[in-house]
Formats: sequence, C-alpha cells, structure tokens
Amino acid sequence: MATVQEVVRAAEDKTSTRPTMKAIAVLPGQPDSVHLAALERPRVEDIPGGRGVLVKVLRVGVDGTDREINAAEYGAAPDGYDFLVIGHEGFGQVVEVGPNVTTLQAGDFVVATVRRPGTSIYDVIGTNDMTTDDTYFERGINLRHGYLTEYYVDDAEFIVKIPQGLKDVGVLLEPTTVVEKGIAQAYEIQRRLRVWRPRKAAVLGAGTIGLLAAMALRLRGLDVTVLGLTPRPYLNSDLVEALGARYASTRELSLTDAARAHGPFDLIFEATGFAPIVFEAMQALGKNGVLVLSSVTGSDHRIEVPADKINLDFVLGNKVMVGTVNANREYFEMGVKDMAQAEAQFPGWLGRLLTHPVQGLERYRELIETLTIAKGAIKVYCEVA
Ligand code: BGC
Ligand code: ZN
Repeated sequence: MATVQEVVRAAEDKTSTRPTMKAIAVLPGQPDSVHLAALERPRVEDIPGGRGVLVKVLRVGVDGTDREINAAEYGAAPDGYDFLVIGHEGFGQVVEVGPNVTTLQAGDFVVATVRRPGTSIYDVIGTNDMTTDDTYFERGINLRHGYLTEYYVDDAEFIVKIPQGLKDVGVLLEPTTVVEKGIAQAYEIQRRLRVWRPRKAAVLGAGTIGLLAAMALRLRGLDVTVLGLTPRPYLNSDLVEALGARYASTRELSLTDAARAHGPFDLIFEATGFAPIVFEAMQALGKNGVLVLSSVTGSDHRIEVPADKINLDFVLGNKVMVGTVNANREYFEMGVKDMAQAEAQFPGWLGRLLTHPVQGLERYRELIETLTIAKGAIKVYCEVA
C-alpha cells in the first residue's frame, strides 16, 4: 500500500515538470538515427524500497553493439518511448543513495551491470545473464535506456563499486566482465576433469575483448597466443607482448599452424566477430580442451567444413564448446579484482587501451564516426563529465 505522502508525491510528479538532461539516443529500426535526446532527470526515489542509487555519469565506452544498434540491426526502445538511449559501458560517481542502501555512498565510483532480470529461474536466482526468456532487458541495448546521458538511477543490486585506484580505467570494467564470465564458465565446466591444469591458451581476435581475455589468462598463469589479422608490430601486438603473451597475425600463421607450434590449446577464447573461424578453432582445440565463443555475429556467413573430421576429433578428444553472453554482478566483482591485479602486475597497461576519447555528449556524431572508421582504435569512449 502506498502511503498518503507517496500518493501526493506521485500526483505532483504528473503535474510538475521535472528537469531534463541530455542523452545520446537512436530510433530503433531506423538506420543511422543517432541524435541528442532529452530525458527527465532521474531521482533516487524512482527506485522502490529505498534501494535507489543516483549516479552522475563520467565516462561511457562504446563498442560493436552500439554500432550495430545505430545501424538498426537490433535494439528496442523502452515502453513509452520511441527512442533508446544507448551506451552500456558506463562509469560514474554516486550522487545520492536511498535510505536502505548500505553498500554505497555519495562519492563512490561505480559501474552498473547491463542486463535486468526477466522471469526465468535463472533471473530469479540473480543470474539474469543466463536467462532462458525470449525477451531480455539490457540497459542501452534492449528495452531499457543506457548510460550515454548525464545521470541514471538504479537499484543498488546492479551497481558495483570501483576502488579509487581504478578510477582512471573503470570504464573498461563492462567489457572485462564479458571475458571474466567466459573464463569462469570454462573453469566451471572443466571441473568435469577432476583435475584440470590448463597450460596453453589461444585468444582469437586482438580487439578490446581479445586483449582483455589475454590479460585475464596471463593473470591465471597460462601461456597465451593471441591471433589477430594485422601483422605485428602495432599497438595491439605491443600490448599482447607487454603481458608476456605471444602475438601472431593469421596472415602469417594460421590458427591450425599456431596450434601445432604453440599448442595443444587447453582453452581457446574466440573474440573475432567472424564466425567461420569457430570451425577451425574446433579443430585447433587440444584434447579435453574448452572452446569459449563470445562473438555476437549478426552477419550470414556460410562455409563448408569437414564435418566428420571435426565431430570425430571432438568425440575422441572429449572436447567442449560453450557460448557466453553478458555478465551478472559476480563477474563484475571478479573483473574489479582482475583489473586491480593487472594494475599491480602490468602497471599502466589497462590505460593504454583507452585510445579514443570523445569530449561531451554533444559530440555524438564524432563518437559514432570514431567507432566506425577510426584506424587503430581499441576503446572509443565519451567523456561525459
Ligand atoms: C554487451 C553485453 C550484452 C551483449 C548482447 C554486448 O555488447 O557487452 O552486455 O549482453 O552485447 O546484447
Ligand atoms: Zn558490449
């Protein structure tokens, strides 16, 4: 039951106009519709149960998902809106918390998770990244506004604290969580082996996700080979080598040859965005190995594969392949720990990924253009405040 005060306040809300703020939005379904929209400024009371956390947005990273949403390949507006505020890689500072929030306070640096719970059993137990619902809710992607705006409010459940010492690289947490989940799932699956001592890993793709996967695997002590398209040396191959990992261009060394030279691979992390390589990876995977697929591929590539050979090796080698998407709070917390260890072990390395800042929400065109055409970009992000 709402109290009298709550009813009065709700009525006031309907009549009084709330202050607005700027946001970068798209019109879902309409290609290249990125524009500046106005949104009501959220309040901590918008979240029920006194659990609200109001956050001032400082930086927001963009990635292939934002590019595809602007290309109208997917994305949907929240109920009651014809636009969707984009941006799911947020980093900000707490302005105010509701009376029942004990884990955060004003001034804390934070990152919010992306997906919001649906109705499946997995959502109910806090693992909405594993939802079996057909409709999923993701801030900045599907049916919920994102973080490319001045403020957002959410339940404390979805907001993760970033230590002061990571504030300059906090915008990298969300992409890191994608890697954390994939690797944690691989280790979880490999408990089937009673003893699993992975020694060698391959990472396919040397973009942001590939680089972060190489980092996380090096932190776990594996011998890591990263395969990218571009021949070394360039920034990404330098970054791989700075981790004590090996870089090779597939123009010079195929994945199959890399497996012969640097395998057998106990774990392969696929992050190229190019699905045909998956079938080569299935063959390059070592016995008892695990292949983690993380690319969201919207294209329609068709290839011919040696089906019996791949199947036979998979069966005779007890191999596993697993898909991974999104990340729940647990992986955000793991990401914070790995980023802290990375700063200790490879000081300054994470900061070198922040290649392309764009100043201010007003430069939304430049943000999307940089994301689409900039050569050598690792992380493109908006300095919101
Ligand atoms: C985001 C994930 C999301 C996925 C699918 C990725 O870009 O980082 O959080 O689950 O897209 O929408
Ligand atoms: Zn993303």
